[in-house]
Amino acid sequence: MTSVLWLRRDLRRRDLPALDAAADAGADGVRVLFVIDPVLWDSAGPVRRGWLAASVRAAAQSYDGRLSVRVGDPETKVAAFAHEVGADSVHVSAETTPYGVRRDRRVRRRLAERDVAWVATGSPYAVGPGRVTTRQGRPYRVFTPFARAWREHGWADPATSPRGVRLGEDRSEARAAIRLDRALADCPVELPTAGEGAALRRWRAFRDAELADYADGRDRPDRPGTSRLSPYLKVGAIHPRTILADLAGARSEAARSFVDELAWREFYADVLSCEPESAWRDLRPELGSMRYDAPGPVADLVEAWKTGRTGFPIVDAGMRQLAETGWMHNRVRMITASFLCKDVHVWWPAGARHFLDHLIDGDLASNNHGWQWVAGTGTDAAPYPRVFNPVTQGRTFDPEGDYVRRWVPELAHVSGRRAHEPWTVADGYDRGYPRPVLDHAEERAEALRRYGATR
Ligand code: FAD
Repeated sequence: MTSVLWLRRDLRRRDLPALDAAADAGADGVRVLFVIDPVLWDSAGPVRRGWLAASVRAAAQSYDGRLSVRVGDPETKVAAFAHEVGADSVHVSAETTPYGVRRDRRVRRRLAERDVAWVATGSPYAVGPGRVTTRQGRPYRVFTPFARAWREHGWADPATSPRGVRLGEDRSEARAAIRLDRALADCPVELPTAGEGAALRRWRAFRDAELADYADGRDRPDRPGTSRLSPYLKVGAIHPRTILADLAGARSEAARSFVDELAWREFYADVLSCEPESAWRDLRPELGSMRYDAPGPVADLVEAWKTGRTGFPIVDAGMRQLAETGWMHNRVRMITASFLCKDVHVWWPAGARHFLDHLIDGDLASNNHGWQWVAGTGTDAAPYPRVFNPVTQGRTFDPEGDYVRRWVPELAHVSGRRAHEPWTVADGYDRGYPRPVLDHAEERAEALRRYGATR
């Protein structure tokens, strides 16, 4: 009996229940497969494509070079591969994104026609989406009760990596290697080291040296206060279960706060899985009559936002960090998203698309529901009237202005927190930094007027 392990968002070998299941089923060997699906690949943008390519290459090393990479529609490619290697079963980690569910349904049907079993074991989450529900059996829409129920539900221990798995040889298509090479060459940002080894090293370094300050440090973009694990979690180079097992019994506020952040990831995956159309539409219908500006007529403002030239230092620092590195600090993601939605008055999907095009960790559930949370159309319990003030946010979370000076060289000469208010120093604009493109107080009032009109 031969089995196929089809890797998707689980590019690792350790703590992978689907591999255990494939090994149990495949007495004659396990063939490990990755399919470059043009639907996902072409829409990913050069940054995410680069990270995926690096992660696939790293996964191939984890499997001793025995990872077969194919290019094409998974429905035909997975079935053809199973046939070619004489497999009786195809093993996966369950997928819950809207596209993933539809794709898997097609693949599964095609395999069934050929008497090949489809076996889903585990998922990219500690608690699979859809498992945590209210007493009435409904999905949660608010984070705090979800997180409580999620903790009460609990999660499995990490899977034990099976020993002595017989891996079949690599049967990659030549054009797959070309695609991966090109994606790596075209990636416009410097990528972190990919792979499960790097993910584990990052997690352990964070756990041992940085976690203790997380409760205070996580909101400070000027400090290396967060784990930077999101790109690894995105491709499954590390599973949250591995992290949670390490934190079992940890009572500190920092550990609790970190687990809460992992719970946000699970929450958004749950919301998206239960409400697939919320990927690109408002989760809450209440703001359906909200008046937005189309990105076209405010194209100059949108362009200033994208390129980090709005004249609001913390917004510009964040957008430049995103463009230059493919990553942005969570607090600054909220500030920049709020700026586009509530100062420029553009509906959130335009911003969400831009983030997905540029983030290494770009993830439909976390990104689009992160945007909806900020926009007030999503899961926030007290949504619309919160409008982030970019200056007070900057002064609070980057109190010495270090983050701004790091990403906005035109303000490198402005010392301390005044970097957030270049208009208060005589030479603030001497190095070409732009004046504010809008008046925040006026736009805040306009945002609240529009909100009032929906009620
Ligand atoms: P840490 O603070 O170390 O947190 C550990 C892990 O918890 C993260 O790696 C992530 O998996 C999870 N996490 C933390 N905060 C959140 C959150 N608010 N929502 C969901 N999961 C969270 N995260 C993504 O992974 N991909 C995205 O595309 C994405 N887009 C976002 C867009 C907006 C507008 C906002 C407000 C947030 C977005 N986030 C996204 C969530 C969050 O900003 C990142 O997960 C976090 O900044 C990653 O850095 P880290 O790994 O150092 O986080």
